[in-house]
Amino acid sequence: MTRSPSPGAGAASGVRTRFAPSPTGFLHIGGARTALYAWAFARHHGGTFILRIEDTDVERSTPEAVQAILDGMAWLQLDPDEGPFYQMRRMDRYREVIARMLAEGSAYHCYCTPAELEAMREEQRARGLKPRYDGRWRPENAAGRQPPEGVRPVVRFRNPDEGAVLWNDLVKGPISIGNQELDDLIIARSDGTPTYNFCVVVDDWDMRITHVIRGDDHVNNTPRQINILRALGAQVPLYGHVPMIHGSDGEKLSKRHGAVSVMQYDADGFLPEAVVNYLARLGWSHGDDEIFTREQLVQWFDGSHLSRSPSQFDAEKLRWMNNHYIRAADDARLAALVAPRLGARGVSAQALATGEVDLASVCGLLKDRAATLEEIADLATMFYVEPQVHPGQLAEHLKPQARPALRAFADACGSIDWTREAIAAAIKAAVTEHGVRMPQFGIPARLLVFGRTQTPALEAVFALMPREVVVHRLARGLAHAL
Ligand code: GLU
Repeated sequence: MTRSPSPGAGAASGVRTRFAPSPTGFLHIGGARTALYAWAFARHHGGTFILRIEDTDVERSTPEAVQAILDGMAWLQLDPDEGPFYQMRRMDRYREVIARMLAEGSAYHCYCTPAELEAMREEQRARGLKPRYDGRWRPENAAGRQPPEGVRPVVRFRNPDEGAVLWNDLVKGPISIGNQELDDLIIARSDGTPTYNFCVVVDDWDMRITHVIRGDDHVNNTPRQINILRALGAQVPLYGHVPMIHGSDGEKLSKRHGAVSVMQYDADGFLPEAVVNYLARLGWSHGDDEIFTREQLVQWFDGSHLSRSPSQFDAEKLRWMNNHYIRAADDARLAALVAPRLGARGVSAQALATGEVDLASVCGLLKDRAATLEEIADLATMFYVEPQVHPGQLAEHLKPQARPALRAFADACGSIDWTREAIAAAIKAAVTEHGVRMPQFGIPARLLVFGRTQTPALEAVFALMPREVVVHRLARGLAHAL
């Protein structure tokens, strides 16, 4: 059964997922895939997908980056049911929870100065121990000790001493981290601002997140977050940590491997459904299925079959998929997407507006061989600009014996039906009658009408042009080349 992707269905199920980007740059391919998985998982279960902007790193967060993330998600049609929520607007709530934890004893003030902490670490290193906070300001250790003058304390979470944090990762399977490994995490800095892990915990709690799907660069945060959630008496969500995306050389994905921003794929002429299909498949599988619709993804994406190893980004495969979706796309839609790209290539709005050459039909003709909309635009330009033919080029390609054939064809054009079939028949008649080979006719014909020697089948490209223009350009060229 295909489940309804409508937000209204969200209420039917308790599943709540979130995408929680930090707005420090564009929406990159890795983030987009994480968002897609969280979205698809929520949709599969008829649940709720939430967008949360983690903007507490004020130095690095920008409004432009927020907008780039929103644009990227809109382009991929990953619409949140709730949000965007902004962490910077939730500061009062974080402070409230910190106050509660201080009151309950699950957090405490620590007055260690940076120098003191450094000395502590030095001493531990000297004794061959792993450096960690020694708990000296835990309430049980600090009893009766006066806080030093003039030191503004941080707030630390009192991590459990014993046992281990265990979770069954949706992707990686069971993971266990001993509490001995975990420090008493700082949850508020000395200026009172809450720290990253703490904000995530309060948000996941308040937003009643049931499944945290995120990049595996966050695995180390998970046991700390689970401990804080437990201390708050909150329901601990299930976690799924998705491995990184690497370039084809196995290195971390970077600009070197091609575009890393989702919107660059838009600029480069990829269709969003191709990018969605490609990203879905990159790190997740459903049997041998390579091409599937968004509805199928939603139907199949139950959290299983997520790959445990890093995925390799394959630009060629994405191009192959994009070609599939371009071929499947409606010609009028392609025309709307290609038109601005023609403008960027110097085609005037007026040339497009005359409707003399129907852009949808042009796209329909060119789409089979195009991997991107940019490639369609590169080819389509020839239908809308005056050809520039250099005399030398014409002399090279227009052999004397082809002239009568071209002239005969130009003459015939006036009286035939302006259809592919009739044009093909007229070309055949002209070359047969004058005894020239097809390339001797076709190459100069293309050059005169389109300014280039290679195009799709002559009758197909001529049929899309106004008859008078074809005749005029042929006649003009033949006259000049005398
Ligand atoms: N803000 C984090 C990031 O952009 C994600 C945090 C999370 O998903 O828990 O990497």
